[in-house]
Amino acid sequence: MHRTVICPGSFDPVTNGHIDIITRASMMFDDVIVGVFDNSEKHPAFSIEERIDFLNRTVGDIPNVRVIACDGLLAQCAKDMAATAVVRGLRAVSDFEYEFQMALINRKLNPELDTVFLASDSSYTYLSSSAVKNVASHGGDISNFVPAVIHDEVFNRINRKGNK
Ligand code: ADP
Repeated sequence: MHRTVICPGSFDPVTNGHIDIITRASMMFDDVIVGVFDNSEKHPAFSIEERIDFLNRTVGDIPNVRVIACDGLLAQCAKDMAATAVVRGLRAVSDFEYEFQMALINRKLNPELDTVFLASDSSYTYLSSSAVKNVASHGGDISNFVPAVIHDEVFNRINRKGNK
């Protein structure tokens, strides 16, 4: 059986924590779709095109990983892409309640869709896109948080915004 999974998220911007989850998923499943949701209600710092570009430059060379834009319901997006599971990273107990609720809702909406949780690598449990933006907006060093290929773009954009 060919197993396709979807890793959904805002990826605003992609961090080393996201890359760890996507890379590990790519070793466990045949195909990994990274579904980038617009999430405009979260007022993302980067456009969906920029977020997809950042992802393509960091995980785009993994042969079984594909980055796409998604909108609407994750359960529907997964169905359209023939994904049988959602892969989500769990950093801490604080992630659990929301993630558990979403997993159950998604399974109600699409009974064939399961959710697989990968425990965050201990070196990334503290890491989130929000933390990256917060540190960069104050001119702090984000070089351990985001991949080198996107570092300057992320830092310059957020730092400029933060200093406005
Ligand atoms: P969302 O807005 O849907 O939470 P994110 O872009 O914040 O999307 O996260 C996408 C996925 O990556 C989620 O499954 C999230 O739990 C996971 N993730 C984010 N940061 C980390 C990290 N540091 N370690 C492991 N998983 C992470």
